Amino acid sequence: MHTAFHVEFDKWPEEQSVKTHNRWHPDIPMVETFKPGAEFRVECYDWTGGQIKNDDSANDVRDVDLTKVHYLSGPFGVEGAEPGDLMVVDLLDVGYLPESQWGFTGIFARDNGGGFLTEHYPDARKACWDFHGIYTTSRHVPNVRWAGIVHPGLIGCLPDEKLLKAANDREAKLLSTDPDRVPPLLAPPHADTALMGQLEAGKAAKAAAEAWRTVPPREHGGNCDIKNLSRGSRIYFPVYVPGGGLSMGDIHWSQGDGEITFCGAIEMAGYLDIGVDLIKGGMEKYGVINPIFRPSPIEPHFAEYLVFEGISVDETTGEQFYLDAHVAYRRACLNAIEYLKKFGYSGEQAYVILGTAPVEGRISGIVDIPNACCTLAIPTEIFDFDIRPSAQGPTKIENTVSVAQAS
Ligand code: ZN
Repeated sequence: MHTAFHVEFDKWPEEQSVKTHNRWHPDIPMVETFKPGAEFRVECYDWTGGQIKNDDSANDVRDVDLTKVHYLSGPFGVEGAEPGDLMVVDLLDVGYLPESQWGFTGIFARDNGGGFLTEHYPDARKACWDFHGIYTTSRHVPNVRWAGIVHPGLIGCLPDEKLLKAANDREAKLLSTDPDRVPPLLAPPHADTALMGQLEAGKAAKAAAEAWRTVPPREHGGNCDIKNLSRGSRIYFPVYVPGGGLSMGDIHWSQGDGEITFCGAIEMAGYLDIGVDLIKGGMEKYGVINPIFRPSPIEPHFAEYLVFEGISVDETTGEQFYLDAHVAYRRACLNAIEYLKKFGYSGEQAYVILGTAPVEGRISGIVDIPNACCTLAIPTEIFDFDIRPSAQGPTKIENTVSVAQAS
């Protein structure tokens, strides 16, 4: 298969011959354009562009420069693609490269990124993962092993000028409500560290000042972090600019629903084998605004789960929230962590397990005033011991390791 984007692991991404991009903007030129029906391989850096190392210190997570992320490969065009079409994208395969057979998970520090439970776990931590064929284990999190559900955290087509401006305006309005918040409400444009792909220097400066950061998902897809968008899936992306401009990166070996530690998946460099096609006028024909997709036929299968419930009542203040799924899911996660701690895991290890293992997060009830009910389902088979409740009480594991800390 033709490799349309190559990653040179002995160089920083900024020094590559074919430039990566870490912003979304309609002017970023196509790396290559393919006919409908084409198949090609795309190699990707990990989302931080190599800032995180395979070692036992979380200093790199503490000090990571988040204005530089995500390092994306593309954009790629499809001949004949026009605004209003749907680009049909097959994730024919996703995996790791022989030069980089490992992954990492970060709990980001409250003052540099944060995470879903940052008020409870405010300090930088890291876990590294080894791959064994389709399975993974970590020297920092004992007694767990599972098969990967490998997927791109981030994939989408370039926005047009209209969508670029609309999102910039609505995000600026939200940011103005509390511009000094820690962690911040959102990531505004930041020209200093923008990489604009193959865009010539003269045009790049203007575009970088208004280009979208890659942090949130938007109408075009982007950083959706959906674990079920795994190898074997077919995605239908809205097309906004001629050619489409498909870009991707942030490959995850595995992830729990919500990617709760923020750098919550098992992050890795790797490759995607891509097939492309078009549905002309598909946005109007099917009423599509955001991408739709068909999941893979080969996801890991688990026979049994232990499910934790959470409701929309604040854990610290006892305040009642109105049908707030964010609060309810946080409570479900915290309940699961407290349970796993009874078996000998540290809170940080349990937090990392929920972020990385293929746990199922669901909105179970969103109408029963005033409490939303969210659930978190953990596949019991990922543990090499029995985590089910019984009259005997929990059997403690021998836990002689910990997640990596910052000095
Ligand atoms: Zn990621």
